[in-house]
Amino acid sequence: MAERYDAIVVGAGIGGATCAALLARRGLRVLVLDKNSLPGGKAMTVSKRGFRYELWPIVGGPAIGSQFSRVLDELGLAGEVEILAPKEKSVLLYRRADGEWARSVGSARPEDANPMALPELLALGETDFAEAARVLMDLLGMPPHEIDALDDLSFADLLARYRLPQSVISYWGMWINIVFVVPLDLVAASEAVRTLQDFSRGGAGRYHAGGFGRMAEVFCQSVERCGGRVLLRTRVERIAISDGVVTGVVTDRGSFEAPIVVSNAGIQPTVLGLAGAEHFDGAYLSRVRGLVPSWAIVGLRYFLDRPFFEHGMYIAFSDENYLHAARLAEIKAGKFPEDVLVFNVVPSIYDPSLAPTGKQCALVGTICTPDPDFAHGDALLDRLDATVRRLWPGIEGCIESVDRYLGSDVSSLTRDRAVPAQGGECIGLAQIVGQCGRHKPDARTPVRGLYLVGCDAGGYGCGTHQAADSGVRVADIVTREHRTRAAI
Ligand SMILES: Cc1cc2nc3c(=O)[nH]c(=O)nc-3n(C[C@H](O)[C@H](O)[C@H](O)COP(=O)(O)OP(=O)(O)OC[C@H]3O[C@@H](n4cnc5c(N)ncnc54)[C@H](O)[C@@H]3O)c2cc1C
Repeated sequence: MAERYDAIVVGAGIGGATCAALLARRGLRVLVLDKNSLPGGKAMTVSKRGFRYELWPIVGGPAIGSQFSRVLDELGLAGEVEILAPKEKSVLLYRRADGEWARSVGSARPEDANPMALPELLALGETDFAEAARVLMDLLGMPPHEIDALDDLSFADLLARYRLPQSVISYWGMWINIVFVVPLDLVAASEAVRTLQDFSRGGAGRYHAGGFGRMAEVFCQSVERCGGRVLLRTRVERIAISDGVVTGVVTDRGSFEAPIVVSNAGIQPTVLGLAGAEHFDGAYLSRVRGLVPSWAIVGLRYFLDRPFFEHGMYIAFSDENYLHAARLAEIKAGKFPEDVLVFNVVPSIYDPSLAPTGKQCALVGTICTPDPDFAHGDALLDRLDATVRRLWPGIEGCIESVDRYLGSDVSSLTRDRAVPAQGGECIGLAQIVGQCGRHKPDARTPVRGLYLVGCDAGGYGCGTHQAADSGVRVADIVTREHRTRAAI
């Protein structure tokens, strides 16, 4: 007979692991299944040749007071993962009109914020500075009900209410690209302002001691400590549904029963693949099929034979290389700017134990289409490599080896391709107008007992933080459902 649980969580990404840990802590008998050999999904930390690193650049925001801290507190595990929010951790590089790269070093801590750093980086004159400051004050002071009213407006349209110079638009374009991996002209203003306020209160550039993905590892250990079970290397092939009600899952290692299944596999792969379109009505299906994924980050991992980078995170941008919708179309056609946008994270700067003594690993990425079959991916990586060598000429003599990753790697590690040009997305669903705030897909599906968790439903914010936020919210919904069932 199949093993029976109170709830099965499909996927141990940040969203699934957060939700499962909270449910197990609240007394539900939980089974977590993931096809990978490690928890963490897109934010997994791997170990290789004495290094520990994420497969691509990952740092989090907010730094202080994040959902991760709240979840660790509820689990009684605050001492198990040290949250790192160092000073002098991040460098912004901006190529000014004269072609020179200007640089500004920042801290992950809100109390260290230097209000003059950005005006100096962008070389703003008095009038531009005053207007840029006015935008920031308006956005940071906006009350929640006004933010809610911005679901249908793009952030570009919100900024168009001000007279901003190109350098400030480029800054915001870069910020939206890096935080949400979508363009300024599509991102929902409500999502951008809410997240900006979180970053202003709590800083940004958080990392976790032992590797970013250690958080998901600890959450899965907590499931087991609370009497649940975590089965890795186990692919869910089908979510079992009978008469519109969930009954469990079928995996490559047998079947498991539960009245509640929470899927972290992505809304499109879950509805169209694992559950099956036949269980949903036409309106729900057409909404799910029409959902747009975030863009991708593709890139390179540099393994260096000496410590080369001094800081934990670098972002290099210019007026030409932040991406809006028209520029992505050019990337898709194989036309790239001379220097592409660069996002570079060096894990051992945050935690020196993550690299062998005297060595370093730098995880570099740039923005790209989420299509796992993108034809110009390797050419884009060549351009990224050339940009990196121009920005940091000394890196040349330190490189021991370089790995490459594309959207197809992100897809095979995490979510199945369920609709054309989807799978390699960096975040999950794009946080664009029509998909955020009151338009965000509900974590509850029309199938009784089937829930969605992770970046596709229920949460808001930047990448991993959105996934954790969803995990917290979905755990609350599922706990209520479980208790109601138990009471009747
Ligand atoms: C290149 C790149 C750079 C990024 N940089 C940042 C960053 O700097 N900061 C940030 O906050 N975020 C960043 N992100 C985004 C962030 O990592 C993701 O948004 C977040 O981790 C997604 O979490 P999730 O829980 O929604 O899902 P996922 O991480 O996608 O997890 C889904 C899990 O479900 C499992 N699964 C799927 N199907 C099945 C199945 N059939 N059976 C069993 N298991 C299954 C997968 O194996 C996976 O473990 C980055 C992502 C990428 C790809």
